[in-house]
Formats: sequence, C-alpha cells, structure tokens
Amino acid sequence: MINQERIKNLLLELVQIDSHSRKERDVAEFIKRYCEGMGGQVEIDDAGEKVGGNTGNVIARFPGTIPDAPPIMMSAHMDTVVPGEGVRPIVEGDIIRTDGTTVLGGDDKSGCAVIVEVIKCLQEQNIPHAPIEAIFSICEEVGLLGAKNVDVSKLKSKHGIVFDSDDPGFLFTKGPSSNHMEFRVHGLESHAGVAPEEGISAIKIAGEGLAVMNLGRIDQETTANIGQIEGGMATNIIPNLVVLKGEARSHNEQKLEAQTQHMLKCLQDAARRYQVTANGKTTKATIEANIQRDYSSMDVPDSSYVVQLVLQAAKRMGLDVKTMASGGGCDANVFNRKGIECANLGTGMRAIHTVKEWLDVKDMYASAEMTLEIMKLNGELAVSSR
Ligand SMILES: [Zn+2]
Repeated sequence: MINQERIKNLLLELVQIDSHSRKERDVAEFIKRYCEGMGGQVEIDDAGEKVGGNTGNVIARFPGTIPDAPPIMMSAHMDTVVPGEGVRPIVEGDIIRTDGTTVLGGDDKSGCAVIVEVIKCLQEQNIPHAPIEAIFSICEEVGLLGAKNVDVSKLKSKHGIVFDSDDPGFLFTKGPSSNHMEFRVHGLESHAGVAPEEGISAIKIAGEGLAVMNLGRIDQETTANIGQIEGGMATNIIPNLVVLKGEARSHNEQKLEAQTQHMLKCLQDAARRYQVTANGKTTKATIEANIQRDYSSMDVPDSSYVVQLVLQAAKRMGLDVKTMASGGGCDANVFNRKGIECANLGTGMRAIHTVKEWLDVKDMYASAEMTLEIMKLNGELAVSSR
C-alpha cells in the first residue's frame, strides 16, 4: 500500500514551488534533496545549459535488491506552463484545484510525486525490486527539451514508464509526430492613401492563404493549427510582413508531410498572385518558411515488455487498463526514439494547461498503487527469468 497522506502532502508541496519552463531550479533542488534522503545517487545533468534554463534534468539512481535485475526507468517533468507561479492549491475533499489565477501544475508534479512515493514504499516495505533510474525532466512544455538532452548513454534502462497524462485507467502507447512551422509572408510597404498601387499587402496574402487552408482535424490521425498571427504597423501603411506560426501532427509520417506541404502551398499560391512594378522595379510577394520537426511519433506495441508489465500488474489488482493513442507528444516520444521503450501512464491531472486545472487525489493514489504493483511484478519477472 502507498501512503496516501504522504503523497498528497508531497504533491501540495511541489505545486507551491514555482517552476515555469527553464526556471525549474527550486523544484530540481527539492527533488534532489528528497531523493538523496532516500539513498538515491542523484545528479543534475547539463541539459539546462544547453537549453538556456537555470537547472538540468534530475537523474536519481536507486539500487535494486535483486542481483543482476535490469534497471527500469520512471520519468515525469518538473516544469509547468504559464501562469504557474505563486500557486495556491485549494483542497476540497479529494479534489485539489487552484484559486483560478494559475494552473495547478499537477501536470506534471503528480507524476513526480508518484515516482517518489513508489520508491519510498518499495524501500520501506522491503519489496524486491530492480534498480530504478528516475528522471525528473525540465522543459517538457516547451518542446520536450529536457528529454531531448538526456544523455542516454549514461542510462542502463531499456524500458520504463512516463507519468504524464490524465486518467490512470489508460496507458498511452502511441503518439503523433509533430512539425512546427513559421511562415513569413513578405509584401511591400507603401503609403496606404498616397501610393497604394506601389504596395503589396502581406495581410491580404495571409488571409487568402488561410481561407483555403485545411486546419483542425484533418483525419483520424492528423491535426493542424495556425496558432499565432502577427503583422502590420499602422492603418495607413500597407503591411509588408505577416508572421504565422502553426503546427501539424500525425500518427502517419506521409500524412504529416502532405499536410505540412499543403499549408505552405496555400500561402505560396496566394503570394504568387501579387507583384507590383514601381519606379521600374518589380517586386513579388514571397513566403519564407521555417519548418521544424518538433518531435517524432511513438508506437509501442501491446506485446512489448513494458505494456504487458502494466496490463498484467493492473489485472492482478483487478483493474482494467486500456492502451490508447494520444493526440499529444510527451517525453515518452523522445525516450522511445532514444531506445528506452516506454509508455505514458495517467496520474489524475485534469483540465491541464488552464487555470481551471484540478486533480482528484484518488486517481493519483490509484496511479501510485498500480505503479507499486508494476515495480513488484517487474521484480518478480526478473527473479523468474534468472
Ligand atoms: Zn505534462
């Protein structure tokens, strides 16, 4: 059994430590001290320097009690989205929410709390277990940057669990690839009243491109969005620049590529219709595109060791956990690509990335109980395979 009071208090303590992305130091130091107090060997890696943050990922290694058992990874991220500073958690029965001015940060401090509590229980209750590599990452919310900068050559785990989703009844095993894009529409500046013939409106081109662009849910596997638009200087100036920022995601690489190219082509087709000649010089509208892979898909089969481990542990507890595809990316996408086969288990966080974020502690307890059972079963399997 896990200690419900202790994990709840740990969560409440964690959410009150500010940790916007790139500013996770206070939480990192807290978790480092906590894990050291539990006998973990803890290091903070150099990911922070690489991404311009004030701390790196916390990597805590706990020895196993089963000789030669292969290590297992558990991971959650320490950073929160904005507005996430000065969180004042409000506890109403089993529900924890905020005062409505900030997010709660249960995403993903509930994951951090689950990991710590489970390791504590394994130790206190002398449950035979494999060595554990716990990774508390930075900058998940700004592009999985902490996970991307984990040096996996220093890790021994070949499989693991990421705790970064809502319902503990689901195990996310599939996630999309995502492209991030920035389009710069270049027009030509001119006085709107005196010489409109000599200008090209970048806003009009952007509008025409967007009007024919397929966005939203494209199909079962694919989504697309233009989320930011910026441009123009004054009502009397024909705007020479509009910057559009967006993304496309798909579980299918070809569909992702097709959608990305479609978005670019809509703007290019609109731009092609505009050119002006003034003072003997011809200017054409142009589109400058910066398209980058944000993260790549994950697809862990149900037959894999880690999925079977979770499903069997749940079954032993009389629980029914289902594998699911996610529309989002998380650190698990990155770890899978780095050779650590892992799935993403829910912790009870809800309405994340909003100031209405809340968490039902019963869900977090269930997640921790299940994880304790997972670690127990993992130990048993290591013994029986010797
Ligand atoms: Zn998260």
